[in-house]
Amino acid sequence: MPAFVRVIVDHSPDKEFDYAVPDVFREKIGIGSRVRLPFRERETLGTVVQALDESGWESPREILGVVGEHPAVRPRLLELARWMSDYYACPVEAAVRCVLPQVIRKGETGFRQQIAVALAHPISDDEMTALRRKAPRQAEVVQHLQKQKAPLLLTQLAAETASSEATIKALVEKGFAKTSIAIRPRDPFEGESFVESKPHELSEQQAKVLGMVDHTVLAESEKQPLLLHGVTGSGKTEIYLRAIQTALDHGKGAIVLVPEIALTPQTTERFRERFATAGHSVAVLHSHLSAGERHDEWQKIHSGTARIVIGARSAVFAPIENLGLIVVDEEHENSYKQEETPRYHARDVAVVRAKMENCAILLGSATPSLESYRNALAGKYKLLELKERIDDRKMPIIRVIDMRQESRKGAGILSGRLHTAIETRLEKREQTILFLNRRGFSTSLICSKCGHVCQCPNCSLPLTYHRSAARLICHICGHTEVAPGKCPECSDPGIRHVGAGTEKVEHVIGKVFPKAVVRRMDADAMTRKDAYRETLNAFRTGKIDILVGTQMIAKGLHFPNVTLVGIINADLALHLPDFRAGERTFQLLTQVAGRAGRGEIEGEVLVQSHTPFHPSIQFARQHDFDGFQEQELEFRDKCDYPPYTHMILIHARSPHEMRASFSAETLARRLREGLPDGTILGDPAPAPLERLKGFFRFHITLRSRQILKLSRHVRDTIAKLTFPEDVQVTVDVDPFSLL
Ligand code: ADP
Ligand code: ZN
Repeated sequence: MPAFVRVIVDHSPDKEFDYAVPDVFREKIGIGSRVRLPFRERETLGTVVQALDESGWESPREILGVVGEHPAVRPRLLELARWMSDYYACPVEAAVRCVLPQVIRKGETGFRQQIAVALAHPISDDEMTALRRKAPRQAEVVQHLQKQKAPLLLTQLAAETASSEATIKALVEKGFAKTSIAIRPRDPFEGESFVESKPHELSEQQAKVLGMVDHTVLAESEKQPLLLHGVTGSGKTEIYLRAIQTALDHGKGAIVLVPEIALTPQTTERFRERFATAGHSVAVLHSHLSAGERHDEWQKIHSGTARIVIGARSAVFAPIENLGLIVVDEEHENSYKQEETPRYHARDVAVVRAKMENCAILLGSATPSLESYRNALAGKYKLLELKERIDDRKMPIIRVIDMRQESRKGAGILSGRLHTAIETRLEKREQTILFLNRRGFSTSLICSKCGHVCQCPNCSLPLTYHRSAARLICHICGHTEVAPGKCPECSDPGIRHVGAGTEKVEHVIGKVFPKAVVRRMDADAMTRKDAYRETLNAFRTGKIDILVGTQMIAKGLHFPNVTLVGIINADLALHLPDFRAGERTFQLLTQVAGRAGRGEIEGEVLVQSHTPFHPSIQFARQHDFDGFQEQELEFRDKCDYPPYTHMILIHARSPHEMRASFSAETLARRLREGLPDGTILGDPAPAPLERLKGFFRFHITLRSRQILKLSRHVRDTIAKLTFPEDVQVTVDVDPFSLL
C-alpha cells in the first residue's frame, strides 16, 4: 500500500498533515484508518484521508501505529464529512468527528468480556458418583454442563442451576471445569422480549405510496428524494416498515432517523417487533446509551451484523454498507439540527448522503417543513400523500377557545369548556392529554410594588419558579437560587407569580379533579432513568387519567383511549422574534392534536388562545396544511426568507460587551468586501437573547439564494481575521434557533 498518507489530526482543525508509513503497517493501513502518530511534542490520533505515493513535504514523520484491523471510517463518509465542512463552514476535522463516535475514535472501549465455563474433560461415572456424595451441588452443575454444546456464561450457568459462583469456582479449582473469556456485545434491550408484529394489510392509498417508494428503492438510475406528507394516524410507519423490508430483501441496509424526543420505547419497539423477530438485528443509536452500548451498537453496524439502524440525529452517519434506504420521520423536527459545531441538519445531510450513495431517501411528516415542501413544489423532491387516517378514522375536531373572554369571566388557566370536557372524559373513563410547552410552576416572579422581575444573573431572561424544589431556575444556563418570599429589591411581600408552566397545570388539575390520577411528563419529572417508560406504560394501561406534559408528549405517541387533548396556551411560540414562529405553532398544534382520537372513539381537541384568529391557529383548526403553506410561502417569498433564501447566522460573544459588539462590527465590515451578488447582509445587532450564560452576544444575519458561495465567503473572511482572545465567533448555516 502507500508510502505516505495524508492525515487529519484530531483536534487540530486547520490543516492536514503528511506522514510516512513504515513497512510493517503497509498491509493494514487504508483510507479511513485511525492511526497513532507523533504531533508536535506528543503522541495523538488521526484519520487517514488520502494515500500518497510521494509527499511534497520535506521529511514527513512516521506513523506509530494503526488502530484496529480495518479502517474505521468508510471513504464515503469521509466524502460526506468534506461536504459538511464546505456547506456548514466548519473545519473538516470537526465534521470527521461526527462520522466517528467518540468511543470508536478513542479506541478505548472494547466489547464486554465475560467469563464462560465448560467441562475441562469428560467426567467418568466413578468421578461423578464420588462428586455426588461429597458435593451434590457441584455434581448438579457438572450434569448441566454435560448437556451443553458450547461454553456457558458464568452468570447464566449460575442462574440456570441455581448455584452460587463459589460452587462453580470450586469445580474449576478441582480441574473438572475450565473458564474462558467470552466476548458478548451489550444489548440495550437485554431482558426484553418482543411480540412478533405482522405486516398490516395495506390500505389502498398506502399501497399506492409504497409502490412508489419501492420503485425508488429498487431503481438503478439516479433517485429523487421522496417527501411523504401523511396526516397524523395515516399509517406512515407501516410504509417505512415495508420499504425497509424491500431493501432487506434485496440485500441492502436501512437507516431510520427519528427525533430524539420521539425515540420512545414505543417507536423502537415497532421496528424491532417487525424485524428482530424475523432474525434481523436492529441497532439503535441515541444519546441515552452508555459508552459501552454505543460502542457495541456501532460495531454491530460496522461489521454488518446489524443491517437496520434506528436512531436520532447522529445515526445519519451510521456506517451501513450498501445502503438501500434512509427514512427521516417527522422531518420538520428541529431536533435534527445540531446546535453546536458542526451545526448540521441531519435531514439535509441525509439527503446528501443518499445522493452520494445513490440510495432512496424518504422524508415523512404530517406537517412538512416549508423547506422540504417547497423542494417538492419545485420538483426537486417527489411528493407522496396520505390524506386519510387508517380505517377512515376521522381527524379530531379542533375547537379554539378565546381566552380573552374567559379571562373576563374570571377563568384561570382552565377555561370553562376545557373543564367540562375533562369532567366528561373522567366520567366515561376515557383519557386526557394536557399540553403546555413550558416547564416549572410560574414563569416569572414580579414585584407588584416596584415592578422588579427576578432575572437570571447570567442571561437576559426571567427565572422560572419551580414549586417542588422551591427554587428559581434559569432554563438556559441552569442557574438556581432560593425563591424569595419578598421582593429582593424593595422588600415588599407582594411578589406575584406570573405565567403558568406544567407544574402549575398539574397542581391546578389535581385540585379541581381530586379523584383523577394526574401525572406530569416533562424534563423535571422524568429525571430518573426509567420514569419515562414507566409513566407511558401506566398511561397505556389506563392507570393514569390525565397526562400533563411538554413537547415530550407531543410526538409519536399512540394511545387509543385518549379522546381529549387540551392545549393550555397555543400562543407561546407565536410571539418569538422568529420568522418561523407561525410555522412552529402550526406544526405543534397539528402534532399535539394528532394524539387524539387514535382509537375507535372520535377525538376532540380544545385549543386555548389569546389570539384565536391567528392564521396558524385557524389553519391548524381546519387541518388545512395546503392553506397554511400557501399563505406562509407567499410571505417568505416576499420577505426573502427561507426556503427562498438560505440564511447564515453569525454570533460574536464575549464576557465584555464592547468587545463582542466591536468584533461583530469589524466582521460585518469585512464581510461586505467581496460579498457575493444578491446577498442580503443585516447590520450587526444585539441578539434577541443579548446575554446568555454570562456572555454578551451580537449577531449578523446573511441571506442568499446561493449558499455554497456565501458559506465559503464567510469562512474565508473569518479565517483571515483575528479576534480578541475572549471573543468567540460561531457560524450557523441554515439556523433554526434565531435567539
Ligand atoms: P402515522 O405515523 O401516520 O401517524 P401510524 O403509522 O402510527 O400513523 O399508524 C396509525 C395506526 O394505524 C397504528 O396503530 C398502525 O399500527 C395502524 N395501521 C397502519 N397501517 C394500517 C393498515 N393498513 N391497516 C390497519 N391498521 C394500520
Ligand atoms: Zn441563565
